[in-house]
Order: sequence, then structure tokens, then C-alpha cells
Amino acid sequence: MSDCIFCKIINKEIPANIVYEDELIIAFDDIAPQAKVHTLIVPKEHIPNNLYLEGRHKPLIGHLILKANEIAKIKGIAETGFRLIVNTGKDSGQEVPHIHWHLLGGEPLGRLICK
Ligand code: 5GP
Ligand code: ZN
Repeated sequence: MSDCIFCKIINKEIPANIVYEDELIIAFDDIAPQAKVHTLIVPKEHIPNNLYLEGRHKPLIGHLILKANEIAKIKGIAETGFRLIVNTGKDSGQEVPHIHWHLLGGEPLGRLICK
């Protein structure tokens, strides 16, 4: 989508600190980190939020969740632990309407819920 900030990052129209990328997903550091490690894991397909997932997305989501472990290793937080969060819709505070997983860690997270 042309006016989507994450599509622009995917298309390299705006810069980001890219941590991992393959044909299906991209991971880049959050611009306003809420923990020592705060990386966003984003499918390259523009899917507005969790409610828009369809059966055909099952391989994509499985791939993304497995790659999250690899990205946690790249970021050095696999051993110390991490949290994955997906915000969906207004009450969650979702700001960017392109589905993404927050990968948080690098310090004790307490009750941090990424909003
Ligand atoms: P949401 O509130 O939609 O779950 O999370 C959106 C996240 O995207 C926020 O944590 C916000 O800091 C991050 N973000 C928004 N715009 C940009 C950007 O241009 N670049 C990067 N790297 N992160 C962004
Ligand atoms: Zn998008």
C-alpha cells in the first residue's frame, strides 16, 4: 500500500535498521524502543491486522513465528527471554495498520505490554 509506512520500509523507500529479511518477512528495530531490544517483525504482504488473516496465511505466520526465534538469537536475547506482542485495532492502541509482531527483550520486561 502506497501510504503505509511499513510498506515503505519494505520497499526501501524509507530507511530502517534491518535485522533480518527474506522473501516473506522483514525485521527492523523500532524507532521508539520500549525495551533495550525492540524489533518489529513484519510480513511483506500488506495485511492490516490480525483480523485480516486468512487460511492462506498459515504458512506465512508459521514461518514468521519460527523466524522470531532466529531473530531473537541475532539480537542476543534468545537465552535471556523475550516477549512477542501483536496489537489489533483501536483498544490495543495499534498505530500502524500493517500487521507486525513486537519482539521485546534485553532486560526484565515486568508488566510492559507495549502500549
Ligand atoms: P503498534 O502501535 O502499531 O502496535 O506499533 C507500531 C510501532 O511502530 C511503534 O512501536 C512505533 O514506534 C513503530 N514505528 C512507527 N513508525 C516507525 C518508523 O517509521 N520506523 C520504525 N522503525 N518504527 C516505527
Ligand atoms: Zn503496509
